[in-house]
Amino acid sequence: MKEYGVKRVFMGRLKPGDDLLLSLEAALKEAQVTMGSLTLIGALRSATVGYYDQDKREYLEIKYPRHLEILSGVGNISRKDGKLMVHCHVTLGDSEGRAFGGHLLPGTEVFACEYMVFEFDGPVLERGFDDDTGLSLWQLT
Ligand code: ZN
Repeated sequence: MKEYGVKRVFMGRLKPGDDLLLSLEAALKEAQVTMGSLTLIGALRSATVGYYDQDKREYLEIKYPRHLEILSGVGNISRKDGKLMVHCHVTLGDSEGRAFGGHLLPGTEVFACEYMVFEFDGPVLERGFDDDTGLSLWQLT
């Protein structure tokens, strides 16, 4: 575990047609955020999320080609391969009020989205391959 202080807080909005993950990453790069957390709510025209199969050690891609609410999005901002990486999970809702979701992937089209970002001051965490899980996790040593 590492300790951080909150450095800056951002509140922003994405435009209809934006790719949720790629647009967030672009906005954070422009603001020069390196570490932080984020939350978001809004609505999507379509979504692409991943589900990590722990036995096969690979992500399955799930596509939802329909309008959905973003009931909740939570994520963190760190580095992978020396570049900014947003890791975000979303809970989505449909017209029947059912909820589902997953690991946010490119290919998710925004209808409306409001986000808050808390930038942290402290050691930069880099992701690296984790033998136990097959995932790219924070290297904390
Ligand atoms: Zn994930």
